[in-house]
Amino acid sequence: MPIRTGAEYVQCLQERHPEVYLRGERIDDVTTYPSLRNGVATMAKLYDMQHDAEFRDDMTYVSPSSGESVGASFIIPKSIGDLEHRHRMMAHWAKASFGMMGRTPDFLNVSLMAMAQAGDYFAQNRPEFKDNIQNYYEYVRENDLVLTHTLVNLQRTRSTTTTPLVDTTGVALAVTKETDDGLIVNGARVLATLGPLSDEIAVYPARSHRLPDGSEGRYSFAFAIPSDTKGLRYLCRESYDLERSNFDHPLGSRFEEMDAIVFFDNVLVPWDRVFLYGDPDLCNNMAMSTNQYLHSGHQVVTRNVAKCEFILGLASLMVRTLGSGGNPQVQSMLAEIIENLQMTKACLRAAEADAKPDRWGVTSPSLQYIGVARSMFIKMYPRMAEILHLLGSSSLMALPTEADMDGPLASDIERYLETDTASAAERVRLFRLAWDTCCSAFGSRQVLYERFFQGDSQRNAIILNNVTDTTPMTEMVQEFLEQG
Ligand SMILES: Cc1cc2nc3c(=O)[nH]c(=O)nc-3n(C[C@H](O)[C@H](O)[C@H](O)COP(=O)(O)OP(=O)(O)OC[C@H]3O[C@@H](n4cnc5c(N)ncnc54)[C@H](O)[C@@H]3O)c2cc1C
Repeated sequence: MPIRTGAEYVQCLQERHPEVYLRGERIDDVTTYPSLRNGVATMAKLYDMQHDAEFRDDMTYVSPSSGESVGASFIIPKSIGDLEHRHRMMAHWAKASFGMMGRTPDFLNVSLMAMAQAGDYFAQNRPEFKDNIQNYYEYVRENDLVLTHTLVNLQRTRSTTTTPLVDTTGVALAVTKETDDGLIVNGARVLATLGPLSDEIAVYPARSHRLPDGSEGRYSFAFAIPSDTKGLRYLCRESYDLERSNFDHPLGSRFEEMDAIVFFDNVLVPWDRVFLYGDPDLCNNMAMSTNQYLHSGHQVVTRNVAKCEFILGLASLMVRTLGSGGNPQVQSMLAEIIENLQMTKACLRAAEADAKPDRWGVTSPSLQYIGVARSMFIKMYPRMAEILHLLGSSSLMALPTEADMDGPLASDIERYLETDTASAAERVRLFRLAWDTCCSAFGSRQVLYERFFQGDSQRNAIILNNVTDTTPMTEMVQEFLEQG
């Protein structure tokens, strides 16, 4: 099947019947369920973009196996030009939600590509695992499927991360049985962003949460299964799409991608869907050794550019509307956002310019620039949300709803809420957007997402230290010291 349309994506979701629960009830059809359906509609628009003449060349390439047009996020980069092609594709999707949907399918498509090309890494575990990961990548690419993923065990006691993981509580996801048909897994995982809107779920090791030495093999695995596999249950958090108008909740009403806890109740993972099993070391090193970290990072940083551009545009309009641009502290905060944008863009460009073929034959973005950009954004984004608070102050709360705009106080609103540069309606529309970016439940979740979705700041700092060779610098300083 070539690239899917939005309608085909929706139809596939309707044909599946995964166990999805929200606010105490099982959802039969996520595509029509209030508070999820708008997110589905946005996802469908992304799929339609692949067919739009304006984007199609950037969004697709010719499948090496079927000759069909497939999504450009599946490209196996063999040159910097291929990375740039993929970048253009990812930027179109990122801009469509201003980076607010972190889990557009390209995030996992590029990850899967990297893992599949590093097939020999998986073959070290068992020879057939190489075929499994490569066949799976091709299956997802040729069917243009949407994946979610869940990598982290539920917080219970993190002390297990310093001693071998031997979980007596049964909370951590574990293989409980091997059968002729496959592995039986039991336990829970967090957090499947996009879970209820996905065709498949990938479960693999997190580079941030390493299995301690001596951990039992039953906690070490990578696999992927359909979202409607028997025994798999998604428990959604409360939706931040309250089914209000685009005017009232401009972001939440469009870009709810949903996060879910995943319960595995004796779920069968067929052998042909197992990619790693029983080897903690191979699991711990998977993301870095296959360069999945770099390719997912390419998507993350591309999205971060879109998000910075959005924040800068929003902040500039807020300042213009409030006439506060002459204040030095306001200028200084806008400058911080500009620095964030330009640093992120520079890292992305440098990561592509310094890209090199890796040992798997894939042209991979430069580790240092991707690592730095990923790590910096964890701190940048909460600060940018804070800057929006500081720029907007009371205007983030002086916020009539759409109903108020035509209600009994409409003339008061019109008279008192205008500014020197904006009518009351323009001001309210703008500040409702700012509120949904940094104050609403949707906006707060964005901050939490950027803080944690790729591991926390501390663990990212550790990764950056581990991958940075400081020898030339220490030698330089040592040499100077030795001059006496
Ligand atoms: C909005 C959102 C969406 C997410 N989506 C996904 C998803 O789609 N798929 C997925 O797999 N995960 C997802 N996550 C989960 C994310 O990967 C984790 O939140 C993140 O890796 C941190 O793990 P944790 O939440 O278990 O926190 P912990 O690991 O318990 O850490 C909590 C805090 O304690 C500190 N800490 C605890 N133990 C250690 C330790 N051993 N070493 C260093 N620091 C430690 C950390 O600094 C951190 O600040 C999502 C998270 C959020 C908030």
